[in-house]
Parts: sequence; structure tokens; C-alpha cells
Amino acid sequence: MAVVVGVDVDKLVQMLPPAGVGMKMEPIRLCTACYVELPCHKIEWQLNVTQGCANHKLSLLSECPNCGARFKIPALWMDGWCQRCFMTFAEMANSQKRY
Ligand SMILES: [Zn+2]
Ligand SMILES: [Zn+2]
Repeated sequence: MAVVVGVDVDKLVQMLPPAGVGMKMEPIRLCTACYVELPCHKIEWQLNVTQGCANHKLSLLSECPNCGARFKIPALWMDGWCQRCFMTFAEMANSQKRY
């Protein structure tokens, strides 16, 4: 997991959610608007309590809004587009609903 999110283990421990807050790695969720600005996965997107992106006030996506493909693990996002239909994350941001 440290490799996937690109942080060292010490930092990862600090990022772990407080007791009682559930975290799941499936499905992968993301705010594409955040990703366009800073291309890395945020661990809070996987927390059960997270409903959307606090920065952009947008709901998170767990699949491509164009073709419905589930997002792959963050390490495979290097290109910044859907692996199936090549819709870019910048375009997907327009499909995220305000929450
Ligand atoms: Zn965002
Ligand atoms: Zn797609």
C-alpha cells in the first residue's frame, strides 16, 4: 500500500484514520478535480465517513462516468485518463455532482 500511494511507512501511519473510522480500499474513489491539480490518491477518499471532496464540494467517483469502468488501483493512474475509453480526469470532473 505504501508503494501505491507513494508515501513512506511513517507517513502512512500518521495518515491512518482515527479509531472507529472505517476505511476500505474497494471501490477506489477519487475526486478527479483534485487529481488534475495534484496527481496523487488521497487516503481520505477511502474513508467510510468521507462523502465527497471538501475542497471542491463534489461527490467522489468510483467509476468512469463515460463508460462505467471501475477505477483501477491508484498506481495505474499515471496517464490521468480512463483505461478503457480514455476520458481524461479533467473531463470527468464535470460529471461529479455537487454535494
Ligand atoms: Zn477535489
Ligand atoms: Zn471510461
